[in-house]
Amino acid sequence: MPEPQTRAGRIPPAPWLLPTQISQGRAGVHPDAPMSELPPFTVRESPRAKRVILKVSSRHGLEVVIPQGFSRASLPALIEQKREWLERAFQIIQLREGVAVQPRELPDEINCLAIGRTFRLEYVPTASASLELSRLSPNRLRISGATNNLLACQALLKRWLQYQGRQHLIPWLADLSAETGLGYRGVQIRGQKSRWGSCSGQGTISLNYNLLLLRPALVRYLLLHELCHTVQLNHSAQFYQLLEKYEPGFKELRRELRLAGKQLPWWAR
Ligand SMILES: [Zn+2]
Repeated sequence: MPEPQTRAGRIPPAPWLLPTQISQGRAGVHPDAPMSELPPFTVRESPRAKRVILKVSSRHGLEVVIPQGFSRASLPALIEQKREWLERAFQIIQLREGVAVQPRELPDEINCLAIGRTFRLEYVPTASASLELSRLSPNRLRISGATNNLLACQALLKRWLQYQGRQHLIPWLADLSAETGLGYRGVQIRGQKSRWGSCSGQGTISLNYNLLLLRPALVRYLLLHELCHTVQLNHSAQFYQLLEKYEPGFKELRRELRLAGKQLPWWAR
């Protein structure tokens, strides 16, 4: 069941190429003048980058690519210099794609629509270089440690979601299998980039843990879809006949599921 991938809208690179030396203040502007808040950004070091490159996309927000060893301390000033460009770039993407650029901020809550549960998150920065996730109550989680490392936090949230996927999606599939009589050989919970699920020729079903973020009807549809593939490993008329038997409203749900990938929060993608 392929899900159409959101393509990152790239702004033409030329205006984004910045010199690696910052000019010492512009005429009439005091270099210490207080700056209003900068947009959130992530930094990626690239051995191939010759200079600092700012990339803006609806998928990743603002990404700053720096040459190896380049000092991160100077980035806020560099970004500040390009503020007007950035605002325009965000606007262009919004017009072009009809979606607002998601700032890359860590979520305060994760709404697992599929299982009707909302998990609240709190972040406690400590001197530790690693991250730790603890459960304060069934619906409250705390991430402590290097919480300013956005990508490490993202990886941790994904691992947590994968764990939740194993807890909830595996039994759900088993229930539907019993209900329909459609068997399968095995099940895996993964973080595929471009599909919600798949079924192998051997009857092993792979499910995307991001299904947890969708409403239950969509998850049920996807699970039934994969179970039907254990009989028909294709998208033939016979496959859809079988699917319709278990889910008469599948066309609507299929359409909704194809669009759902674009609505996922950045950290889950
Ligand atoms: Zn399919």
